Amino acid sequence: MLAYSTIVVGSGISGLSAAIVLAMHGRKPLVLEAHNIPGGCMQMFQRRGPDGPCRFDTGVHYVGSLYPGQIMWRLFRYLGVEVPTTPLDRECFDRISLPSGDFCMPVGWDSVATAMKRECPTEAASIDAYVARMRQAEASLSWHTLNPEAEGAYDRELFETSLQQYLQKLGVSPRLRALICAQSSLYAVPAADVPLGIHAPVVGSAVEGPHYINGGGDAITTRLVDRLKQLGGELRLRAPVKCVLVEEDVVRGIEFSDGETLHADEVILAVHPKIAVDMMPEDAYRAVLRKRMAAAKACVGAFVVYGTVDASADLNGIAGRNHYLLRDDDPDCFYAPQLDGPADAILNVPPRADNGPQLFSAMGSVRWEWFAPWENTRTLKRAAEYKNLKARIAGNILTMIEQRLPQLAGKLTIVETSTPLTLRDYAGYPQGGIYGNQPSLGAQGRNGVRRRTRYRGLYVTGAGTGTPGVLGACVTGFGVAGAILGTDALINEVRSQTDDAAHKHS
Ligand SMILES: Cc1cc2nc3c(=O)[nH]c(=O)nc-3n(C[C@H](O)[C@H](O)[C@H](O)COP(=O)(O)OP(=O)(O)OC[C@H]3O[C@@H](n4cnc5c(N)ncnc54)[C@H](O)[C@@H]3O)c2cc1C
Repeated sequence: MLAYSTIVVGSGISGLSAAIVLAMHGRKPLVLEAHNIPGGCMQMFQRRGPDGPCRFDTGVHYVGSLYPGQIMWRLFRYLGVEVPTTPLDRECFDRISLPSGDFCMPVGWDSVATAMKRECPTEAASIDAYVARMRQAEASLSWHTLNPEAEGAYDRELFETSLQQYLQKLGVSPRLRALICAQSSLYAVPAADVPLGIHAPVVGSAVEGPHYINGGGDAITTRLVDRLKQLGGELRLRAPVKCVLVEEDVVRGIEFSDGETLHADEVILAVHPKIAVDMMPEDAYRAVLRKRMAAAKACVGAFVVYGTVDASADLNGIAGRNHYLLRDDDPDCFYAPQLDGPADAILNVPPRADNGPQLFSAMGSVRWEWFAPWENTRTLKRAAEYKNLKARIAGNILTMIEQRLPQLAGKLTIVETSTPLTLRDYAGYPQGGIYGNQPSLGAQGRNGVRRRTRYRGLYVTGAGTGTPGVLGACVTGFGVAGAILGTDALINEVRSQTDDAAHKHS
């Protein structure tokens, strides 16, 4: 008899969510993780700061749709985990800072429409049309609304119209376009390449329910891992998988990098799609999809500065918000990073942990080519030139922060920086693109990565098969569990099991 019915490769939120849902339905899943800690982009790390140890989040700065009754809240509840959260500033959760002036993005589409109309009073009709389209797009995605009848995932207009084309059709002014596109780093694709079907759920979930996770990404990961174990599932760390084993048309298990094999009836690859393709037999996907996946472009590279804020800093108007500090009035500047001058940065100043230092992180964009000279080197073993390049980019980011938020001048201490190589080494993202591959036109909806493969029992999931972000990745975990258990039944089950709690809170 097989010891495990299901092997899940990758312990990011998609893999853990899929494993828990399957364990709730009688499977015995084993999650295999290459790294020595679980969570993928939800992992945290510790460094010594100026006044003692600091714990930083890598990829969970805030998560959307977390007010009671909203989709992320429901998915956590269904999984049986209670994640402690704090809502972001309702008046201004994302502050957009452009050369032509600031704009506060409030919580809720109605408030966003009101704020945008104040800013662009002659464009009320376009703003109403935009907000209505966003709501309609989100409502057409079955997992986001828990409605099995919703058909947005295969809606051509949604996945074959770019945000740019849509805004051109509306005839919006450059200022309104800038406000609408300013949060694009939430999915990391320029306006001309992002389908409405990605912009709407990612920005919509942020707008409707932005929350900090108290304790950071670990607070999600540890609860998911505990829940998995409570349900009889297991997690194995330092377990890099080399390839999937198949026999005729059926999956048989996996082979580890050291040659050991493990057998299972189902294998779910919850890793970057390019890694998944490398692990599977060549014919697992149709040639056309394989070609599309091979040609898929990585997102712009992530460069993150992690540090502390001096206790004497005035954080009024700064803490509890994200600050999109963009060097140009066209937010697409984020996708054309420069090595000189103040650099675009998404500054996050989360609530201070009890007795802990005030932390900050600032995410900038960089080109993979700048770091490619060290692609064959290992972390902590890279040359002085690499460190100099990191210091130069971090300096450019700090300059931008100090120019736009002068209260922080001289108050920030850099503790650590990460580059695309860091993301490649710790989460397995080739070329260290912020969210892996670009969720762009031609790679989504009908053209997206398929959950099912030609082999019975072999599936693929993860943010790269759907929408980026913690919510998007979690939805793909439910999606693959649905592919195994029955999608409509699972959607209905999640809805019915969370309806009462949602109504209690409403
Ligand atoms: C800098 C940054 C900031 C972000 N900020 C936010 C944010 O504020 N809010 C938000 O919602 N989202 C944010 N995200 C995105 C979000 O964190 C991710 O989209 C999401 O966590 C991805 O989850 P996943 O399940 O797809 O897997 P991943 O987190 O990508 O995990 C994949 C796992 O697979 C493992 N793996 C790879 N290859 C193998 C192998 N051969 N064998 C075994 N294991 C393997 C990896 O080690 C990794 O642990 C951010 C991401 C980054 C990089």
